[in-house]
Amino acid sequence: MPIENASLILKKMSHAAMRAGRCPSEVKLVAVTKTVGAEAVKKAVDAGLRCFGENRVQEAQKKISDLISEISNSRIEWHLIGHLQKNKAKYAVQLFDVIQTVDSAALAEELNRQAEKAGKIQRILIQVKLSEEEAKHGVSEKELMSLLEEIKGLHNLKLEGLMTMPPYFEDAEKARPYFKRLREIRDEAGREGYSLPELSMGMSGDFEVAIEEGATMVRIGTAIFGERK
Ligand SMILES: *Cc1c(COP(=O)(O)O)cnc(C)c1O
Repeated sequence: MPIENASLILKKMSHAAMRAGRCPSEVKLVAVTKTVGAEAVKKAVDAGLRCFGENRVQEAQKKISDLISEISNSRIEWHLIGHLQKNKAKYAVQLFDVIQTVDSAALAEELNRQAEKAGKIQRILIQVKLSEEEAKHGVSEKELMSLLEEIKGLHNLKLEGLMTMPPYFEDAEKARPYFKRLREIRDEAGREGYSLPELSMGMSGDFEVAIEEGATMVRIGTAIFGERK
């Protein structure tokens, strides 16, 4: 049952935070609902979850509009956690409270333009790619500083932090160096004057390790809703 799963996850999140000497309330659960139907999301809302992650604009568009009448009284937060193409920026700005996957100056500029048109301050994270995997998106460590500089001038964006997705490992401990590195990069950027409080890292298989290394958001799908088809 998704709801029992979610309470167990929340408990494990608290324990991981306390192990690391952190306050459990510093870590937010982003329930990843890609491929999960609107009915199941509705149940998750009824059970108290308030923050959801989707990876595709089109799927989110349909789901959010199916849900909107049902849950209008609850304050739901939607996060985009999948790669965003520039030509969908307009829709992403309409749909998402936070866009976690900004990975180029061109995309940031387009989001800023669309947010300005919509009269919105768009909250974003920068996706950082810490591995060499071809299939993964994100800016490299080397490119990060110039993107930070660029975004500083885009006044309809509010940059809140960094996101990363390490390679998949059977053993979660192997992901630890990636989580640690993202935190270090954040701290280094801090010394250059960039405040990046949010670290979105950790998924079903490795969220406890990510929290021990400083995650403020974990993105969890399978461990709540079951295997995706
Ligand atoms: C699917 C997805 C997740 C959730 O993965 P699970 O292993 O199902 O918890 C987290 N982050 C991103 C970017 C994803 O695409």
